[in-house]
Parts: sequence; structure tokens; C-alpha cells
Amino acid sequence: MAMTAFFTRFRELAFKEMRSATVQGGRDLPDGEYGFLELYCDEVNCDCRRVIINVVTPKTSPKVLATINYGWESLEFYEKWMHDKELAKNSRGATLDMLNPQSKHAYALLELFKWVLQDDQYVERLKRHYALFKGAIHAEHQARKQRTIRQKRNRRKR
Ligand SMILES: [Zn+2]
Repeated sequence: MAMTAFFTRFRELAFKEMRSATVQGGRDLPDGEYGFLELYCDEVNCDCRRVIINVVTPKTSPKVLATINYGWESLEFYEKWMHDKELAKNSRGATLDMLNPQSKHAYALLELFKWVLQDDQYVERLKRHYALFKGAIHAEHQARKQRTIRQKRNRRKR
């Protein structure tokens, strides 16, 4: 599966509703604003219910300072879905995604993200974005299927 930025399908909404956190006088992070860019899975028949967060800051943009996986469902959900207890453990909750770029501030940024997650409204927003994104992927898939059927019909006519 490919994780794709939410803004590729919902540009305006993605930037309007992107969370960020401002750090000032922190112990572990340089002062500045940190944005949590959302990426969702674009596989049409996949319901993995998670988001990948790319932490970016205007100062170093477009460099990704941390890549975080966040799964909001229960451990049982991911076990059933992945058939693998170890993988499931890494999918649930917020963890650093070790397959993707991390910086020396990654752990501190993970903590910052966990702090932001305490806001239930933000979690609900991520779920809503996931549903919207999956809906768009589904619609694109349907449209592609329709096009293929039409092309086949046209070919038969000739
Ligand atoms: Zn998926």
C-alpha cells in the first residue's frame, strides 16, 4: 500500500484542518511551529484505520523531522486485520515509523504528538479525514472501472 498525503485529494480542508503545535522554551525541541501533515493509505480494499504523520516545520520545510504511525483502533482490531501480533503492536497507538525518515528530534516530536492526541476532537478529526480520503479513493476506483467497461464496449463495436 502507498501512504498518500491527505492534501492530494482535499487540498483546502487538509491545510485548514492540519494540526500544529508551537514550542517555546522547550527542553528537547528548538523553538518553532511544528505541523502534523496527514498521510492515508490509498489501497481501495484496505481498511487499516491509521494515519502516518509527517512532522514538518516552516524553517526546514520540506524536510520531514519525524514520521509517526498512529492507529486509533484497539489492539484486537489490528491483530485480526494483520494476523500478526508484533505488527499489530506497532500499528496501534502512536509510534515512530522506523521505515521512514527520522531526525534527532524524532522522539521529542513523538511526545509532542502524543500530547496533541489528548484532544479527543483531534482524534475524531483524523478519523473523519480517513473516511473522506477512503471515500475519494473508492470513487476514483469506481470511475476507473466504469471507464474500462466503456472502453471494452467501444472496442467490441468496431
Ligand atoms: Zn491500508
